[in-house]
Amino acid sequence: MAHLWIDNPPTGWEELQLDGDQQVQLNHNPPLLTKSDRTGGRLTPTIRTAATSTASESIWVLLAGQADGVWVNDAPLVLGIRRLVDRDEIRVPGAGTIFFSTESLAQVKAHEGSPVTCPRCRTVIESGSPSVRCPSCGVSHHQSEEFPCWTYAHSCVLCPQATNLEVDDRFCPEDL
Ligand SMILES: [Zn+2]
Ligand SMILES: [Zn+2]
Repeated sequence: MAHLWIDNPPTGWEELQLDGDQQVQLNHNPPLLTKSDRTGGRLTPTIRTAATSTASESIWVLLAGQADGVWVNDAPLVLGIRRLVDRDEIRVPGAGTIFFSTESLAQVKAHEGSPVTCPRCRTVIESGSPSVRCPSCGVSHHQSEEFPCWTYAHSCVLCPQATNLEVDDRFCPEDL
């Protein structure tokens, strides 16, 4: 799941979750951000209304008119569309500086949808069982006192994502 860091001078950096299908206005009309999905490698800059499946990869696309004066990473958005990648810096007149980030925190949640196999213990994660969905690879692991499969090792079974649940060590523009 992605989010935006928005520079809000009185309070500092604010995090805006881009969770689910939505558009983000950013003090702007027409909306600048829409979510689309990768379908057979095609980039579809349309607003999705259907629910995202756990297996699909979300792509965030920045849309703006040439007259909007939007810049991404020190270059003007000449074509009016750009696929955002982690840590892109977006500058919007009237909205200041915004950072795009795809990092998200691992959270313990009740497993939703059909049962899946935990990659750590290879038993089934039933619907409703406490589990952690890896923010990087999207694979669910058990996480309870009985089955601490997510925090059992320092990283996810299938990718290098750290399994620490307490420390928020994600990217923040303040660290720059
Ligand atoms: Zn397990
Ligand atoms: Zn993972």
